[in-house]
Amino acid sequence: MNDQKISAIPPEQMGLNTRFTFQCHKGVKCFTDCCRGIDIMLTPYDILTMRRKLDLSSEEFLAVFTEPKILEKADMPVVTLKLLDDERKSCPFVEDKEGCVIYEDRPTTCRYYPIGVGALSYSREQGDKDAFFFTVKEAHCLGFEEDKEWTVAQWRQDQGIDLRDAVNEGWMDLMVRKKSLPPSMKLSEESKKMFFMVCYNIDKFRDFVFDSSFLDRYEIPADKIKEIQSDEVKLLQFGFEWLKSAFFHAGRKNFQAKNSKKT
Ligand code: SF4
Ligand code: SF4
Repeated sequence: MNDQKISAIPPEQMGLNTRFTFQCHKGVKCFTDCCRGIDIMLTPYDILTMRRKLDLSSEEFLAVFTEPKILEKADMPVVTLKLLDDERKSCPFVEDKEGCVIYEDRPTTCRYYPIGVGALSYSREQGDKDAFFFTVKEAHCLGFEEDKEWTVAQWRQDQGIDLRDAVNEGWMDLMVRKKSLPPSMKLSEESKKMFFMVCYNIDKFRDFVFDSSFLDRYEIPADKIKEIQSDEVKLLQFGFEWLKSAFFHAGRKNFQAKNSKKT
């Protein structure tokens, strides 16, 4: 998901095989200009990897580096990166000479740039047939004057976007499902809090699964329990599936209530 500001010129639609010319490196005059005054929405997987890189709990990471927001069209909670209170509203991870100090773990939005996504369907039922892309051409960005050529697919792979979108697919699916409901169908505040915990606060969600009556309430296979205990990406994806079942009654067979121990 890319929240970068776009130019007033209507973007040209691109497919995975469309070519564009772009390169970003320390030698460009605009180096790090794009890391100031921006609105970066963080995906669940971004938070997981960034907080690991910074050796923080998800709770600590959220408190120090993020701001909670509501994504208007979907009426769902999201988090954005909290910018510094300096003159240029800089990203907390940018250094003038070195650039991004968490480059290997930078957010998905930063990886997409200068590519934007339009109406990408993440729904498993629909596949991604509606996906289209466009270049985000901002006046200050000189990367388009470089001569390195890419297809959109090559860019996505090079930047690690494919992997991230695959992990976040269930989160996007929840957003798309909610967005497609009539505006009058709202999630309760309690449900929104649950969504926030699962998607953005993985440590709290782990406690919720393993230190509450959760596993007494649902028939979860032993191998699945083992998997989500040892792999937090799997835990996150398990959380997406659980929310989908709880909010949209989809995939409920994976979350059958335990009759004997029901609380
Ligand atoms: S996370 Fe890194 S790449 Fe993204 S805006 Fe901040 S410094 Fe720039
Ligand atoms: S503005 Fe464009 S070329 Fe300049 S640092 Fe950012 S992405 Fe690279």
